[in-house]
Amino acid sequence: MSSVDLTTMAPILEALEAIPRSAERCIAQYADGETLVDYVVSWSDWADDIAWAQTVLAAWGVSAGDFVVVISTGHEAALYGPIIDALNSLGATVCPLEPAEFEIGRAGMFFRRFTIAAVIGLDSTLGPALVREGLLESGLRFMLARPEAAVLAAELDVAQGVVTALGPALALTCPDNGLAHVNGSAWIQSASGRAELSSRPIRHESLSALDVSGALDAGGRPECCSLGRSLGRLIAPS
Ligand SMILES: [Zn+2]
Repeated sequence: MSSVDLTTMAPILEALEAIPRSAERCIAQYADGETLVDYVVSWSDWADDIAWAQTVLAAWGVSAGDFVVVISTGHEAALYGPIIDALNSLGATVCPLEPAEFEIGRAGMFFRRFTIAAVIGLDSTLGPALVREGLLESGLRFMLARPEAAVLAAELDVAQGVVTALGPALALTCPDNGLAHVNGSAWIQSASGRAELSSRPIRHESLSALDVSGALDAGGRPECCSLGRSLGRLIAPS
């Protein structure tokens, strides 16, 4: 029995399950150069993304009882929603923060009251304030930073990787060597070896030949572990 069964949410969730729903869960956006492109994320896509994120986060060592800070905003739900759902599925407690400096008070409450195992989504606005307050100095087992905060994260003595969007795909680095991975059942790298991404037929919306080379270095190996398709090393924008 999951803990949610013990709450007043149970009848609400049951009713939600019984309501007919469309295949589409939400509309998201990815950046194609200067242009923002809408695309559809289906319920099936969402479930796949949760399952994959769960595999990667378990590889990083997340397990039941961990407290994990996630720094994200609502409009990033297509990227961070599956991460939050995956953490819940693993039995971790999500401590949510927004990438804004005014969150430092709430952050202090989380870090002082709980032993925070990991920070996911370290950003370049709240992140420096967390460092200034000394909140990231002890207890953390790992951190997944946004590319723009990778330099900040590198100054911290903690195992770390990167979390970002590669086009419409969630990309996470693996614990082994910092290479970017996307869900290999949903996305495929172009056969030419260039840093292009296309959706596999399992995805609700067909997307092809998305150029993600600006976010990756050229030296990545095609495969490095079993966590998904490896695309190369993620780099911070200059
Ligand atoms: Zn790997």
